[in-house]
Amino acid sequence: MLKYRDSIQMELNFSGSRQNIFRERIQNGEFQILAEIHAPSADTKLEHAVQRNSDYAYVAAASKVPASLALIQTEDPVDIMDPVQFLGELTRDNASAHLLYLSGRNSDLNQSVAKAKHALSHGIKNICSVSGCVRDGMELSRIQQTFFLESVNTLQALAQSGEDELFCGATLNPYKYTPCDSSIQYFKAVKKVNCGAQFLVTQMGWDMMKLQEVQWNLWRRNINIPVFARLLYLTPDTMADLCAGKIRGIHLSPDVESLFRKELQYTAAQFQSVQFSRLQLHILGAKMLGFSGVQIAGIDSPEVLERILHRTSADFRENISFEDWFEAYRSAYDRLNLAPYPYRYYMFEDLLKSVQLPEEFAITNATVPPCTQKELFRKRLGELLFSHAAELPPGERKLTKKFLFSCRSCDRCRLPQTLYLCPEVCPKGMSNGPCGASKPDGSCPFRDMECLFSTQMRLADACGEYEKLENEYVETTGSRPVSI
Ligand code: SF4
Repeated sequence: MLKYRDSIQMELNFSGSRQNIFRERIQNGEFQILAEIHAPSADTKLEHAVQRNSDYAYVAAASKVPASLALIQTEDPVDIMDPVQFLGELTRDNASAHLLYLSGRNSDLNQSVAKAKHALSHGIKNICSVSGCVRDGMELSRIQQTFFLESVNTLQALAQSGEDELFCGATLNPYKYTPCDSSIQYFKAVKKVNCGAQFLVTQMGWDMMKLQEVQWNLWRRNINIPVFARLLYLTPDTMADLCAGKIRGIHLSPDVESLFRKELQYTAAQFQSVQFSRLQLHILGAKMLGFSGVQIAGIDSPEVLERILHRTSADFRENISFEDWFEAYRSAYDRLNLAPYPYRYYMFEDLLKSVQLPEEFAITNATVPPCTQKELFRKRLGELLFSHAAELPPGERKLTKKFLFSCRSCDRCRLPQTLYLCPEVCPKGMSNGPCGASKPDGSCPFRDMECLFSTQMRLADACGEYEKLENEYVETTGSRPVSI
């Protein structure tokens, strides 16, 4: 792979300076391409891991369009190499151009802040905070014993750490198709911004109407924050996994699934050519819709990355109009429904009819399903009996709390802050808002129940307490209770 290195003029070494290449590119309005790489396993030698991934770094540095790497962590921290050391070594000459994902799985606030400081000491200044994902095949009881530090908590701790060189972001899943499920994602995103997120990265998907919904929703609220769209370069294996529903948090509509199944029958060359074209269409669309860049998952070789960057650079030189892009997008999906039938909620009525949010925009009429009398009664009883629960010893009126709210006896009770829904009922123990994994109908993928935050949204709607969903900061307890 030395061919890449020969042709590259490396950027100057800015580690130790106050320069942040990633942030400057955003400020200069330069559209960036982030290529996802994974943290190597713990038993890999650092020099081997760096050697294996160095061509990605070289290809990114040599690109005509601004490009860098995003190091994500899907495995447990004990199973992977120290991501800071790995990314720091891999990008030693321009670490501030790249993005490090900071997972909250099995991490507490002190550890997360320490990891961010450790990153800074390697010149890595850009951090995307996530609660951490659930490993495939993990049993419910194991999930319930695992602690997931929420990005809301991490972001606030990082903002208060005094490390003003850190540039922190968070994620958002806009591919939700019921009014409840969609709205609670946005409430949590605003909470993340309020707690210090300076940029957002979306979950991956293909529905450009949902991507525009993100922008319009932020613009209408005057939240001017850079957003990156996460996209997926599809290989036959990933596509087969998607069609089999094996990739959590990504749900194909029946139309898209049958399109993908057809593509799986193509020859290898045909298949790859279709995937490159699709990806280019979405990269161009994200640029047109005002995104600051894209983060691309699934890139399986430096050659693929080089080809993507090369084609993107050519596309950007062509000055394609929004109307022409829209025509190309429409014909690529030829009247396919990208929403997972029967769920098809979009917040705005005129999506993709223009780039800018029209002055007279129309919000889609949608009703939030009502609460049951039992749900309302329980909340009222909670207000009556436990409005000061946070100040009471954890075991106080334990049986009543267990009976009413399935209380798990946390060290510090958060019921008054969560509309009297115990956060520990959520398998991941989220208390500030939903994770992004819910199924198309808004149910939890880990347990047979409505996502706790859809219930919270229905309660907020019934009681006129929407502002709590966005503004109520719930502190972390730092661990899962033992009595699950
Ligand atoms: S209840 Fe909601 S937030 Fe909790 S794990 Fe399930 S889908 Fe995620």
